[in-house]
Amino acid sequence: MRSTPSFGSAGVKILTTGCLTLVACAAVIAAQQQPARPATAGSKIVLLGTGTPAPTPDRSGPATAIVVNDTAYLVDFGPGVVRRASAAAAGGIAALQPTRLQRAFVTHLHSDHTVGYADLIFTPWTLGRRMPLEVYGPRGIAAMTSHLIEAYRVDIDTRTNADGNQRTFPDGHKVNAHEIGAAGVVYKDANVTVTAFATKHAMESYGYRFDTPDRSIVISGDTNPAQSTIDACRGCDVLIHEVHTEAWLAARPEAGGAPPGTFRRFSEKYHTTVPQLAELASQAKPRLLILYHYNSLTPDELQTEMMKHYAGHFVIGRDLDAY
Ligand SMILES: [Zn+2]
Ligand SMILES: [Zn+2]
Repeated sequence: MRSTPSFGSAGVKILTTGCLTLVACAAVIAAQQQPARPATAGSKIVLLGTGTPAPTPDRSGPATAIVVNDTAYLVDFGPGVVRRASAAAAGGIAALQPTRLQRAFVTHLHSDHTVGYADLIFTPWTLGRRMPLEVYGPRGIAAMTSHLIEAYRVDIDTRTNADGNQRTFPDGHKVNAHEIGAAGVVYKDANVTVTAFATKHAMESYGYRFDTPDRSIVISGDTNPAQSTIDACRGCDVLIHEVHTEAWLAARPEAGGAPPGTFRRFSEKYHTTVPQLAELASQAKPRLLILYHYNSLTPDELQTEMMKHYAGHFVIGRDLDAY
């Protein structure tokens, strides 16, 4: 993991993962840049976590930040979300200072996308966040929120009693949980319009399209290939999508001694393979495809497989990359 964000460009065809120094990386990126629109001065996408349920140290749990006009919008809060945001802030993206994390959109309620929720609720508060968190997500997010608040009742009481360090700003741990209920525009302010679209996962799940002043950004969450994702993108600037290689799926041992084929059957219904993503992206036609929440035998294997199936621009996302 690098300690500072690197700033990508929508003109980069393939971001090679093997360069070891900043100079080498810059050379690799420069060599791979295609003629493209100038790098955007406005919105930034910061990959806070590109990981999976596997606790890989250099890939935090799924979390993505979209920063517009110095305001951060999070999508999902996997484990490590606040520490990655803090690292991005230290690297110069002030909107990701923990106390400024105030808006989040959840794709679905699987634990790998939400176990950073308590961290997001409470850590920024202890550091001085004074405003409630605004969270948007599928049905169930309100109950998850109230249960978490209740689970930390002793903490809240001691921080807000006569001795409590947070007693003068008790609202900083509160959450306004908005259950979006259906696809459509779920949020709008001066910076962004956020449109939810239904995806195909094991529970109620949504992807989100962010329309910012300079770019359209679509993020899939966990999903089987979905026409709704294609429709949400339709030539969008950036599509951020989950993926796994078929070789990884074939080699994956069943967790917990589950019967053979258990995960494969789940994955075939609810996740996306490289050939499926290539087909989807060839219809959706994003200017840049960012792979996240990916599984492969090695990074090289994922890159090789993608290049075999997909002729468009793509990058393999890494934690703290920014685009
Ligand atoms: Zn999931
Ligand atoms: Zn997931």
